[in-house]
Amino acid sequence: MTTLLATPGFVDAHIHPDKTTWGSGWLSRTPARTLTDLIGNDLRAQLAYQDSVEERAYALMKHAVLNGTMAMRAHVDVAPQIGLSNIHGVRAAAERLAPFLDVQVVAFPQFGLLSNPGTLDLMEASLSEGADLVGGIDPESLDGDLHGHLDAVYGLANKHGRNLDIHLHDDGAKGLAQLRVIAQRTVDEGMQGRVNIGHGFALCDASQPGIGPTLDALAEAGIWMATCALGADPVPDLDLMERHGVQVALGSDGVRDAWSPFGTGSMMDRAHLLGYRTGASTDAELERCFRLATSAGAELVGAPAVGSFSGAGSRDRLEFRANSIPELVVDRPAPTRVVRGGQTATLSD
Ligand SMILES: [Zn+2]
Repeated sequence: MTTLLATPGFVDAHIHPDKTTWGSGWLSRTPARTLTDLIGNDLRAQLAYQDSVEERAYALMKHAVLNGTMAMRAHVDVAPQIGLSNIHGVRAAAERLAPFLDVQVVAFPQFGLLSNPGTLDLMEASLSEGADLVGGIDPESLDGDLHGHLDAVYGLANKHGRNLDIHLHDDGAKGLAQLRVIAQRTVDEGMQGRVNIGHGFALCDASQPGIGPTLDALAEAGIWMATCALGADPVPDLDLMERHGVQVALGSDGVRDAWSPFGTGSMMDRAHLLGYRTGASTDAELERCFRLATSAGAELVGAPAVGSFSGAGSRDRLEFRANSIPELVVDRPAPTRVVRGGQTATLSD
């Protein structure tokens, strides 16, 4: 017999709604061996999409809301090749979902920052046209200038009083060295607690020499990590992260875009995948996956509707037919009801 279970809403701490094909036709993907291949495929695909950014983003974000997402941090591409059209499209989609979904937009230099001239000026312009945070990507391996890239993104974030969210795919010693530079830079700029690292694959190999001191430096700087528990990509050892005091949130990353045919935008699915990928088996481990998808994400993105959950009478809550959180994470049902501000979420097309 199952009972009614009330939980806090989900927070997607890392998603790319501007790239998705959700609600559109199927995209057949071209083989890609390197990050540069993937980025090239992404730009070609985006330029060829028939449906607008707003339509595709709305379709995905609406699906996320109906599956219990109450807040998300959206990384949205900014580049001379596309201007600010992705920022405007995601913002327009977010406005249509406003009563039910809080959307933070990161101005994301997917196609390079210093290596793609004109991007930095557009990122600055985006901050008064719908972007909330400054984004960065692989300062060394993609942009070719670690300190130049960090000067640009920390400079922009500090000038406009914004937080920072940097994609870092580099693994091994190269990734750890950059993370230590980022931690030091965060302290030097007085931005403790306001910087997040997306992916952070270097932090996922517990056998790397130097991982402990790097995690300590990140914790000292209040730097978060957003993981997405993606198929073949490394996932963090959650016990190790906890022992060193590095806070972790969970996100979808790209959903059915040129990077991957997978993803649903459901954070219930994502909590399940994190549990599966990290070998969760005890109730405490399964509950931790759920917490990363809810209250931890709420703390990162600042989502009071999720953070203030206090039980079945909460004005913002999800309702499930289930007996417990560990069972939810394994069974991954959709919520029977999404309640936001005391209202049941119903959405039109
Ligand atoms: Zn990403």
